[in-house]
Amino acid sequence: MEEPGKLGGVAQRELRAADLEAVREQIGRDPTTAFTVVARCSGGHPLVIRNAPIDANGEPFPTTFWLTCPDAVKAIARVESEGWIAKLNDRVHEDEAFDEALEAAHRAYADERAEEWDAARSWGGVAGTRTGVKCLHAHYAYRLAGGDDPVGAWVAERIEPIHPGQRPGRVAAVDQGTNSSRLLIVEPGAGPDDPPTELARDMVITRLGQGVDRTGALDAEALARTALVLGRYGRRARALGAETIRVAATSAVRDAANRDRFADIVRIQTGATLEVIDGEREAGLSFLGATHGLDPALGPFVVMDIGGGSTEFVTGALPGAAERAISTQLGSVRQTERVAPSDPPTPEDLAAFERAAAAAFDDVERTVPLGDARTLVSCAGTATTMLAVHLRLERYDPDRIHRRWFSVEDAEETLLRLARMTNADRGALPVMAPGRGDVIVAGAVVLVAAMRRFGFDRTLVSETDILDSLAAELLGIR
Ligand SMILES: [Zn+2]
Repeated sequence: MEEPGKLGGVAQRELRAADLEAVREQIGRDPTTAFTVVARCSGGHPLVIRNAPIDANGEPFPTTFWLTCPDAVKAIARVESEGWIAKLNDRVHEDEAFDEALEAAHRAYADERAEEWDAARSWGGVAGTRTGVKCLHAHYAYRLAGGDDPVGAWVAERIEPIHPGQRPGRVAAVDQGTNSSRLLIVEPGAGPDDPPTELARDMVITRLGQGVDRTGALDAEALARTALVLGRYGRRARALGAETIRVAATSAVRDAANRDRFADIVRIQTGATLEVIDGEREAGLSFLGATHGLDPALGPFVVMDIGGGSTEFVTGALPGAAERAISTQLGSVRQTERVAPSDPPTPEDLAAFERAAAAAFDDVERTVPLGDARTLVSCAGTATTMLAVHLRLERYDPDRIHRRWFSVEDAEETLLRLARMTNADRGALPVMAPGRGDVIVAGAVVLVAAMRRFGFDRTLVSETDILDSLAAELLGIR
C-alpha cells in the first residue's frame, strides 16, 4: 500500500495558492488536509473542495467533498435548524425508492474516495455513514461535485440560488482525449469584454485510447472508466446550472472503429451528442486557446499540443488566428504502447522515441513552415507537468505554470530526470496526475526533440488550450 502523503488522486496534487488563502479565510483556520477545488460560485470563490482521504497527521479524513462557501453553509444551517435532518430520516423509513437512491449515493461516495485510498471504502459514504442522513452540507457538496444524491438535490431546491446576481448562460465543455477527460464549466462575464468566470475545471486520466493504436477499437474497460468520469462531469455541470454541455473527442475516438459505442456512453452520461473533432479543427481550437490574449509582438506563433494519441503543430502570425496546421500520429500513449519501454526506459527505448519524433517532424517540415515562428507555445499535460517537475512544486499550481517560459536546457534536464525514474517513482511525484507517470517520458522526448529540431531555445507553457476554446465557442466568444 502507498504511504500517506504519496497518495494517488487529484486531491493531493493540484491547488492554487490563491485558493488555499480563500479557503483559509472561509473556514477561519488552516485546512488540515490537502484539497483541490471542484466547484466555485459566481464570484469565483471556492464552493466545494475535494479533500484527500488522509490529513496532514496521517489520520483518516472521511469528508471527501466539503462545502466551503460561507453563504451556502449558512443557508443549509437554516434548513437543518428547521428539523429537516430528522424529517428526511423519517422519509428514509417510509419511502423505499428514496432509501435505495440514498444508499446508492453512500456507496458511490465511498467508491470514489476509495479510488484514492483503497482502505477508505470502509469509512462509509456521505458524512461517513452508510444509511440515512447525517449532514445536509455533506449531501449538497456531493451533489455539486457530481454525485447522484437525492438529499443533495432536495437541498438544492430549497437554497438555490445561493448568491443573488448569478448570470444566466452557464456552459460546460468536456475535452475527451486519448489519455485524459477534462471538464470546464464557466459563467459568462458581466460584459462582452469581461472574461468568463470559471466554475469548475477538472482532469482525470481515463486513458480511453488504451490499445487503440494496436486494435483500432476502444477497449471495454477503458470505456467503463471513462463513462464513470463523464457521468460525474455531466451531473456536476447540471448541478452547477450549465444550460449546455458539449463533449468533444479527439484522436483516440477519431481512430476507433467502435466510436458509436462511445457516442452512446456520452449521450447516456451527459445528455450531449458526441462531437468528433478532426485534426485540423483540433489544431485551430488549440491555437486559439493557447494564444488568446498573448502580446502580438511575440508572433508569429507555433503552438505545439502534445496529446496521448496525436501531436498538433499550428502556426499563425497573430494570437487566436490559426493559419496552417498539421496533426501527427505522435502521442505519449501511442509511443509508449508502440515502444513498450523497460522500467525505467533504456537508452534504446529513448532512441526509439526520438526516431519516431524525427520521422514525424520530417512531415511537419514538409507541410507547415515553422522557420518564421518567433514563439513556441506548448500546451497540454506533458509540457505543463514537465515544467511543474522542473520547478519542483510541492503541489500542482496552474497559476505558477501558465504562460511561464521553459528553456530547452531545463526541459532536457527534466526529461533526463524523468527518464531515470521508474514508473512508480514518477507517479509518486507530487505534481504528477495519477495515470500520467508511465507515459510522460514519451511525451517529454517529443517536446525536447521539437525544440531542438525547430531551433527554439525556450517555449511558453500554456494552461489554456482546446478546452477553453470549446467553452468560449459555447459562450459565443471567438
Ligand atoms: Zn459562494
